[in-house]
Amino acid sequence: MIKRNLAKLMHTMGFQISHSNNQMKVKPFNGPENEDDDDNGTNGNLTFVNPPDVAAYASWLVKHPSALNMFDSITKEAKGKRVVVFLDYDGTLSPIVEDPDKAFMSAEMRMAVREVAKYFPTSIISGRSREKVKEFVQLNNVYYGGSHGLDILAPPRAVKSFDKKGNEVAFQPAKSYLPAIQEISIELEDTIREIQGARLEDNKFCISVHYRQVPPQDHEILKEKVKSLVENRPEFRVTEGKMVLEVRPSIPWNKGDALNYLLDTLGFSNAEDVLPLYIGDDRTDEDAFKVIAGRREGFPIIVSSIPKDTVAWYSLRDPSEVLAFLLRLAKWKKSETSFFK
Ligand SMILES: [Mg+2]
Repeated sequence: MIKRNLAKLMHTMGFQISHSNNQMKVKPFNGPENEDDDDNGTNGNLTFVNPPDVAAYASWLVKHPSALNMFDSITKEAKGKRVVVFLDYDGTLSPIVEDPDKAFMSAEMRMAVREVAKYFPTSIISGRSREKVKEFVQLNNVYYGGSHGLDILAPPRAVKSFDKKGNEVAFQPAKSYLPAIQEISIELEDTIREIQGARLEDNKFCISVHYRQVPPQDHEILKEKVKSLVENRPEFRVTEGKMVLEVRPSIPWNKGDALNYLLDTLGFSNAEDVLPLYIGDDRTDEDAFKVIAGRREGFPIIVSSIPKDTVAWYSLRDPSEVLAFLLRLAKWKKSETSFFK
């Protein structure tokens, strides 16, 4: 009976189900998974999931409804207002992959972001270095915030930050930390050398220690080593992301501050008709969700295929749903704009 009700619920949610023994086959997306393994690839294969996980996800969806299902009410609220779009990169625009250097976004996703940026001021805020995220995205009509917003190249017309040669100057609140960051990077390299699979990524204002390829039994050892190294350096702190430890300057600055900074430099800080829309998948994105939740207006959207503690109001399951949402958003604005012409 329970199974039948669950199947009915899943059918309502758009799942295609077939039964074999006590497992369910779910298509077309990868169903709820273990957080430590939530790669976002949707290869169309059938994936086995446990019914209780599906039920947990379904009840989580009630609290954080799909932004695709809520699209009409989102656009109803956004009508006549100025929506400002913020996007995370890894796990949002690109799938999470084993090798962080290969987290490429698809051509379709690039086209969708380009379209969205035609109609809305759009910024990409990532934990990666600003240069690296721009290399992945390859778009000139978006603003980039790297190192979790510690390195922002905002629009020059708003900031008017130029050096003596007339080059744009990035906003870098932790600039004075750079020599210390380089020092700790060398120490970290030394510390993790003996741990097989551990990998350091220099993101300029934050150093990422990836452990996706480290054997599970060594995860705690790695975390201990990194944390005890950073304990001796009070000017730094460690935050945890998906299979990654991030060592960053202990200044009170996060993706939420970056969102506020960008709204301000884009000239929107005092406007009452501004609705920030933020899509992200990681714990560091919660700071941006909190800022929007604090404004009580806007659209904080988490990307997750498993139930997760979040302050986001809406959800999308994976990058393929992010793609669908962005395309719909651009299409909606395009039709709204041409209607008034
Ligand atoms: Mg992410």
